[in-house]
Amino acid sequence: MSHDEFSLIREWTKRGAQHAQGGLSVGIGDDAAVFTPPPGMQIVACCDTMIETVHFLRETMQPEDIGYKALVSNVSDIAAMGGIPRYALVSIGISSRWSPPECRRIYDGMYEACERYGVQIIGGDTVSTPDALYLSITVLGEVETGRALLRSGARPGDAIFVTGPVGGSAAGLAMLLKAKAAGGEVGRDWKSVAAFHQRPEAQVKAGRLLLASGLAGALNDVSDGLASELWEIAEASGVRMLIERDKIPLDREVKAYAASVGQDPLAWALFGGEDYQLVGTVRAASPIAEQFSASGLPLYLIGRVEPGAPGVWLADQEGCRPLEKGGYNHFA
Ligand code: ADP
Ligand code: MG
Repeated sequence: MSHDEFSLIREWTKRGAQHAQGGLSVGIGDDAAVFTPPPGMQIVACCDTMIETVHFLRETMQPEDIGYKALVSNVSDIAAMGGIPRYALVSIGISSRWSPPECRRIYDGMYEACERYGVQIIGGDTVSTPDALYLSITVLGEVETGRALLRSGARPGDAIFVTGPVGGSAAGLAMLLKAKAAGGEVGRDWKSVAAFHQRPEAQVKAGRLLLASGLAGALNDVSDGLASELWEIAEASGVRMLIERDKIPLDREVKAYAASVGQDPLAWALFGGEDYQLVGTVRAASPIAEQFSASGLPLYLIGRVEPGAPGVWLADQEGCRPLEKGGYNHFA
């Protein structure tokens, strides 16, 4: 990257500096940012990286989508702690294969997500890479002291929930790869399926509602597929998690797409990932379900926590069987 390109990125990131929000003393432009968390709050921090060819392909994601999704995946980790996202630091590595206008579009997507989730970019780093685009984001948020929602919070007797349909991102990716292999555009019918993959949303409001309710058990976000996230809770909490096949929420369009290509959408839901819904447990289903519906937020109860060796079990008409941590191969 040339000196001019570095200055371009500085120019693009200046737009964040305009809306300084409470607590930030120094933003972009000095050696580091300085901010003060509000009294009674702890800092909650996470970092997530996207690398071209490993996490996305140019053919399946527009530059805006790459920026948007990279920010959302971090915001989702803050949501999964019950926190409020506040600030982001962005490390980007660009090669000559990415033109300045394309890079600007990545920032456009990132700022669009920042606007939506109330996040301010307060710094970062810009480097050149030999080939693949590299985008690593750190998000800092706040949570009431001592109240962050952990994976270890599940207890026998809890109800298991998920905040929305799962499997959409994997369905979207499968569809986009198929379209790419056929050398064509995404059919108009499946635009909403593509959007699950390209423009996922984080569930900050649901995380905050769970924390405020005082009835939350464990919490996690669906970045690696429902089975893997439930396993993380089961192991961290030392409990057995039992989910019911028929209760796992699947999007209507995703089901229609699955039928059109002869796939079982449940495999996408269990082992796909990148849906960024929240999955977790609550002590009692009843007041929480009412609170969610009063706030206009969906909540799907999908199973229960039992005592026993850590594990995840799937129940259907044929009985109950253990779910592997991940991998389509084990799912017949
Ligand atoms: P230093 O050399 O002290 O590390 P830089 O000259 O790299 O600082 O960066 C100057 C300012 O621009 C810093 O505030 C830094 O956080 C910010 N910055 C650099 N790259 C980016 C980026 N890609 N996104 C957002 N802010 C960035
Ligand atoms: Mg410096």
